[in-house]
Amino acid sequence: MNVIKNLILGSGPAGLTAAIYSSRSNLEPVLLSGKEPGGQLTITSLVENFPGFENGILGPKLMNSMRQQAINVGTKIIDDIATSVDFSKKPFVVSTERNGDLYANTIIISTGASAKWLGLDGEKRLMGKGVSGCATCDGAFFKEKTVAVVGGGDSAMEDSLFVSKFASKVYLIHRRDEFRASRVMQDRVRNNQKIEILFNSEVKDIKGEDKVVSIDILNNKTGENKNIAIDGIFIAIGHLPNTSIFKGQLDIDDNGYIKVHDFTKTNIPGVFAAGDVSDPKYKQAISSAGMGCIASIDSLHFLEDNNFIQ
Ligand code: NAP
Repeated sequence: MNVIKNLILGSGPAGLTAAIYSSRSNLEPVLLSGKEPGGQLTITSLVENFPGFENGILGPKLMNSMRQQAINVGTKIIDDIATSVDFSKKPFVVSTERNGDLYANTIIISTGASAKWLGLDGEKRLMGKGVSGCATCDGAFFKEKTVAVVGGGDSAMEDSLFVSKFASKVYLIHRRDEFRASRVMQDRVRNNQKIEILFNSEVKDIKGEDKVVSIDILNNKTGENKNIAIDGIFIAIGHLPNTSIFKGQLDIDDNGYIKVHDFTKTNIPGVFAAGDVSDPKYKQAISSAGMGCIASIDSLHFLEDNNFIQ
């Protein structure tokens, strides 16, 4: 049986940073790139807050460089998806879609998080026809149009401000009467003439045959229903950690995040978690990368302490 010393699941900033560190510790890491190779940064445009790039860097370019750097220092990357895991066995077992079962002495879980959706029929039906989860990808399609953005966090603020550069009118729709976004982002939104805020409002339906034409909104304070004509709608209501295959295998909190102690240690010694999959709070590329580094060093110490390596 070929036993991998350090198996990394996921190829966002956490996974690739872990891979770079593990390669340089001679752990000969193997990385499964997962469902969304490169992670969430591959669907953003300019990243201005990742240190080292004085004029910012495009998200996909940053992730390609990280991947190439990991390969250059010796990481074996397998473009495949983990379908189930068995952490009760030693070595740990990870089953994959196309490469059978992989066996590993340590695992770093960095499977990230995926965008949440409202769960409306029209959302799926009109995806890419006016419904979008990525304002930076699709905002420019709505030049001089009317759009809606749903959510009350920093993503919704950022998306509203971004699409207001193109659209003539932006409705920002939030289910409560206060935002959870940072004050500075809220102020920018409130000072933008193109953005109209609809508080206590829930999108009940997205209408249109071949493209979005309107939305039904319920005011959950007054009970009033109204229909607003729009050309597009951006859903920015947060993310869900990708942990479904770890349920029953690891301690997971009520919101689906893997529980960690000492930064990256899960309840199973030898299994570590890094990045958005275990971070309900910071969720930044740079903090994820930092956790990937820590998870790699923790893996090295675990392998040494358990005599898997000298
Ligand atoms: P978030 O902070 O979790 O906010 C999600 C928003 O969506 C909340 O306002 C929530 O409403 C609303 N929501 C959730 N489920 C909903 C549903 N089913 N229907 C309607 N509304 C729903 O997520 P985020 O905005 O993506 O931000 C995530 C993290 O990234 C945060 O830490 C944020 O600060 C950070 N971030 C930072 C920046 C920046 O600094 N430039 C940009 C983007 C994100 P409630 O408020 O009622 O719960």
